[in-house]
Amino acid sequence: MIKTQVIKLTSKPIESFIIQKKEELRSVIDYPDKTLIRIIREIGFKCDLCAKCCTAEFNDHVFLLDTDTTKIKHIAPDALVPAPYYEFCDREGRFYVSGYALKSRPDGSCIFLEQGRCSIYSQRLTICRIYPYMLHREADEDGNMDWRQISGLNEHGCYHAEMEEEQCRRIAVETKEYEIAFLEQEIGFLEAVDAHFGEKGLRHVQGIYDKQMRHFQNGGGIEVLVYYNGGFEKNLARISDYVSGSVSLVNQ
Ligand code: SF4
Repeated sequence: MIKTQVIKLTSKPIESFIIQKKEELRSVIDYPDKTLIRIIREIGFKCDLCAKCCTAEFNDHVFLLDTDTTKIKHIAPDALVPAPYYEFCDREGRFYVSGYALKSRPDGSCIFLEQGRCSIYSQRLTICRIYPYMLHREADEDGNMDWRQISGLNEHGCYHAEMEEEQCRRIAVETKEYEIAFLEQEIGFLEAVDAHFGEKGLRHVQGIYDKQMRHFQNGGGIEVLVYYNGGFEKNLARISDYVSGSVSLVNQ
């Protein structure tokens, strides 16, 4: 079953999140390619096909950029769910989230993982292509914010493999492109929510968020507006939607 999270956002205006995300975007853009390339080469990560990264043991859910959502809508629309950690809830009990995610299987693995292999490998998603390289800011053991470059370091795969300069450069470019697209989607979402709330006289209401989340966790249906391609798509979601035995591939 998916983990759900109650997010406390009340005291900060959406504008402050937009500023924060724009600063983060600037940091990603300015992050020196040379540093990233050097780290990638030094770590020398090599996938050993353990498939752990496609399971809940390692990753909570597969978040989709808009381009990925468009692809999944084409090949397996039933695999889509609103990304699980809804960011806002208005007084009508309507949730807002910055994108879609993939459903999981009952054992927590990705809906597309079959016998330890990705069933859509040639069309796999942006995050799957760059994984385990990341640039998300994360606190270290001392609580200082730092960049995390490798997800699950030393917990999967092989290390210290020889890597060509060109391969490291390509990974670095793709990783930065992903992080930039991710933050741009998040900023677009926050700006859209801010505009929507302003226009309709709405705001985030934490008490309603908590109440609706309890309803959802108890199996009830909720309305979720998912940010996609610059607008919102209305979804009706239940916690049971997040887990499925399989989905059909179409247009293959
Ligand atoms: S889409 Fe494929 S590569 Fe990505 S998490 Fe799912 S099974 Fe793994």
